[in-house]
Amino acid sequence: MKLYVSSDMEGIAGVVSWDEVDASHRSYEWAKNQMTKEVQVVCETAIELGSEKVLVKDAHDTGRNINISELPSGVLVHRAWTRDPLIMMSGVDDGYDAVVFTGYHAGAYSDGSPLAHTMNSTSMKWLKMNGLLMSEFMMNAYTAAYYKVPVIAITGDQAICEEAKQLIPEITTIAVKSCKGSSCITMTGNNALVAIEDGIRVALKKYKLSPNACELALPDQMTFEINFANAGLAYRASQYKGVELVDACTIRYSTADYYEFLRMFFFAC
Ligand SMILES: [Zn+2]
Repeated sequence: MKLYVSSDMEGIAGVVSWDEVDASHRSYEWAKNQMTKEVQVVCETAIELGSEKVLVKDAHDTGRNINISELPSGVLVHRAWTRDPLIMMSGVDDGYDAVVFTGYHAGAYSDGSPLAHTMNSTSMKWLKMNGLLMSEFMMNAYTAAYYKVPVIAITGDQAICEEAKQLIPEITTIAVKSCKGSSCITMTGNNALVAIEDGIRVALKKYKLSPNACELALPDQMTFEINFANAGLAYRASQYKGVELVDACTIRYSTADYYEFLRMFFFAC
C-alpha cells in the first residue's frame, strides 16, 4: 500500500508552549527530535507491515522540522511548501491508499490545547464549515476525502482525537497528552512512541481487512465562514469571487466543490 503521512508539531508528546514549536527558541530542539521520532515509528511500522511507499509531509511552520537522517530508508519526505491549495496535504492527489496524521492538535476557538489554532492563528480567529468549527484535522481529512483517500489514524492531543472519532468513527486515535487551561498532562516521549507503534499496527491491520472503513463523505453543499483578526483582512478576502462579507470581520463562501473552498482559502486567507 501507499501511505501518506501529514505531520504537525503542536500535538506531539509534551509540547505545551509556542516556544517549543518555534525554531528560533532553544526548547525547539527537543520538540523537533520528538516530532522526528514520532514520525519515524509510524514509517518503520508501515514498512514492516508491507507499505511499499511512504511519503511524509513535514507540515509545521517552515515545513523543515523533521530530521530526515533519522527516517528509515525508502521513505520520501516533502519539505517546505509547494504553494498550492492542498497546503498540509500537498501531493496527496498522487494516488495514495491511506493517510495518517501525526502531531495534530485542537482547532481554533477550542479549549483542547493551549496551542489550539487552525492554520494561520494571527490572521484568523475561527473558521466553520456548515456551522461546525474547523480544525486542521477536519480541513485535511476532507482534503483526503476529496481524493477518496481514507484517514486511518491520528496522533495528537486528546481533544483532536475525540473530534476525529466523531467525524470518522472507525479511525484509530493515539492521544499522547491531554490539555487543560495552559497546561498538559503528557506521556513520556518513549511511552508515546510505544503507543503510536501499537496504534499504527491496529490501523494498518484494520485497513487490510476493511479498506473503506475510514472513508469520509463530503457534504453535497458546503458553506464556510471565516472570522478574521481585523476588518481589513475580511474586506480583502471579500474581493475573492463568490465571497460575501457577513459582518466587519467575517466572510461567507458557499460551494459544492471542496477544492474551490481550498482555492478560496489559499488566495483569500
Ligand atoms: Zn497546526
